[in-house]
Amino acid sequence: MSLFEQQELYVYNSLSKTKEKFSPIHPGAVGMYVCGPTVYSNVHMGNCRTFLSFDLVFRYLKQLGYKVRYVRNITDAGHLENDGESGDDPILKKARIEKLEPMEVVQKYTVDFHETMGKFNALPPSIEPTATGHIIEQIQIVERIISEGYAYEKNGSVYFDVAKFDQDHKYGKLSGRNLEDTISNTRELTTQSEKRNPQDFALWKKAEPQHIMHWPSPWSDGFPGWHLECTAMSTKYLGNNFDIHGGGMDLKFPHHECEIAQAEACNHESPVNVWMHTNMLTLNGKKMSKSTGNNILPGELFSGENDILSKAFSPAVSKFFMFQAHYRSILDFSNDALVASEKGYNRLMESYRSLDNISTSTAGSFDVSKWRQSCYDAMNDDFNSPILIAQLFEASKYINGLKEGKETISADDLGLLQKTMHDFIFDVLGLVDTTSENNSDGNKLTGAVELLIELRNQARSNKDFATSDQIRDQLLEAGIQLNDGKDGTTFSLN
Ligand code: AMP
Ligand code: ZN
Repeated sequence: MSLFEQQELYVYNSLSKTKEKFSPIHPGAVGMYVCGPTVYSNVHMGNCRTFLSFDLVFRYLKQLGYKVRYVRNITDAGHLENDGESGDDPILKKARIEKLEPMEVVQKYTVDFHETMGKFNALPPSIEPTATGHIIEQIQIVERIISEGYAYEKNGSVYFDVAKFDQDHKYGKLSGRNLEDTISNTRELTTQSEKRNPQDFALWKKAEPQHIMHWPSPWSDGFPGWHLECTAMSTKYLGNNFDIHGGGMDLKFPHHECEIAQAEACNHESPVNVWMHTNMLTLNGKKMSKSTGNNILPGELFSGENDILSKAFSPAVSKFFMFQAHYRSILDFSNDALVASEKGYNRLMESYRSLDNISTSTAGSFDVSKWRQSCYDAMNDDFNSPILIAQLFEASKYINGLKEGKETISADDLGLLQKTMHDFIFDVLGLVDTTSENNSDGNKLTGAVELLIELRNQARSNKDFATSDQIRDQLLEAGIQLNDGKDGTTFSLN
């Protein structure tokens, strides 16, 4: 019997706004699509939070024994805000600024994304399709929507007719916005449009001469609208109706609402059974975002090179920090919270390692089987990672009791405890133990440089400037830069 037959998983569905018992369309197999990054800049920690939350979902479904096909796309044909009417294609913009081919921009930031996900020990998806690799499929969908009567062509561009769709299928099921709300929200665009109605959205846009990325189509040399690629790639690889579609909360409207409209217009069925949306990572109480610059990059976190950080944090600690909040809660990024998470993470790893040296006797006061089920219960309740982590700390307390000789454990229980800790810490949360060997080099370096900073301070207070300058200059030659600030001296690696 598979684990998924023993465990009851409940998932919050943004469409029904309730937690529903999860039951995939094909027993034992799950199809999941997650909107991937737009690759025109480095991913920030907010993006990482969303992708790591879905890595947790992917990992837990696999832990339950499901065969999962996880599709996460790469948006490499820049999506346009306001359907390109006033927005700019961010990939083309970046290509101009950096004097690169658009595909060089795409390659550079796709590689960065993969490296970053690798550092976080996120599993690669089963299929990672690109928008530019699916232009034909996107054109076919536009043709279908036109033939169903829900889209119209104007001057070489094609628009989705939202009002017509709304009459037959009802628009706004996911976001809860009705047509009137949408119209009032898009009022500012009414003057400049080829659209019949302001709420209509582009399926295909005719390319202006300066638009370098364009493809032939029955309507014009142009490019697909923002929402189309996800409909094309999700239905191609997962079918017209599949289990889970995910993304950040900010994609619910208009992106996912438009995906539903496109798919229903083509196939007359709802494309997705469960819509999952992750909440935002904020910085100073505001959403982390690429465009406003209010963000922290993973590289800054791993090196400590950002003024709001007191030190570097490993990818595992950063991930542990994020999993200490539920994926549907807002999480505010702060140095203090990371410092606290690091302590917790170190404690957990230390407990896990110490299980190797525990001697067994008779069963103790801790019911290991019941505790194991509590770990599953936490994850079965809409992937509640903070409760799971609290359960792991319960085990950690017991392990401390064992180490101090205040508790006992049977051999069977020790085996089960060790396996369960391993399953959840490494397989489900996808953490790695960096506390033992890897990180110790970093700690040793920090210790050595801090000693040199201290010696330099002593030299300066003795007015021995030759020595203090020598320490600073020779460290710089070795690639270590000292930075004197009002709160003392810090260092960074060049
Ligand atoms: P983008 O590359 O902008 O399309 O974003 C990729 C993913 O990151 C999307 O699912 C977004 O919803 C998500 N995202 C963007 N900003 C944040 C944030 N501050 N917190 C969590 N997820 C975010
Ligand atoms: Zn998408």
